[in-house]
Amino acid sequence: MTHEGLGEGAHSSNRWSAFLALRRTGALRAAHHGRRKMRLIILDRDGVINYDSDEFIKSPEEWIPIPGSLEAIARLHRTGYRIVVATNQSGVGRGLLSMDMLARIHARMLDAVRKKGGDIEGIFFCPHRPEEGCECRKPRPGMFYEIADRLKMNLSGVYAVGDSERDIVSARRVLASPVLVRSGKGKQTLKASTELSGVPVFEDLAAFTAALLSNQLEMH
Ligand SMILES: [Mg+2]
Ligand SMILES: [Zn+2]
Repeated sequence: MTHEGLGEGAHSSNRWSAFLALRRTGALRAAHHGRRKMRLIILDRDGVINYDSDEFIKSPEEWIPIPGSLEAIARLHRTGYRIVVATNQSGVGRGLLSMDMLARIHARMLDAVRKKGGDIEGIFFCPHRPEEGCECRKPRPGMFYEIADRLKMNLSGVYAVGDSERDIVSARRVLASPVLVRSGKGKQTLKASTELSGVPVFEDLAAFTAALLSNQLEMH
């Protein structure tokens, strides 16, 4: 397990576990505690926060937010939700980008989120190639277990927003509540997946957020 302090010379060591960038978000969430049972949202990255690319996101310049996603994270943050990211980044294992470059991409993402008034508490990622058979690459649930462990939270009922079937399947394995967005690979997933029974579908993260914050989520 490696902790990466973004902006503090992030480094990597144990590449066989999920990695984490953690920053405490202060008193805001404590002030909002209690009204809902679970105040955590788990977000996939590519196709949910930023545009996905079949060529992989290999540099900060290639990281381009989906319109409305940063504002949505800010809204969730202001409402008292803790937000973490769980993302497969096999480009690292494939040698397409280094751990340092991934840290730079995440620094850009965090900077963009904070400029909108939001925050992300932790970024959990799997750097492995699919054939490595690790426990953290979605659809396996390793990153979700790591989140539960680090945040000392039961993920039962926690919304996990993704655009791929593997996001849905991994969330279900820890009894989180998967949500599909049509952005990124979402439309493809809607056509092809047989795992979507009971999964609410939204246009994008902004639409999910709007529904959640107006208590309309169960209607979908
Ligand atoms: Mg995705
Ligand atoms: Zn992994």
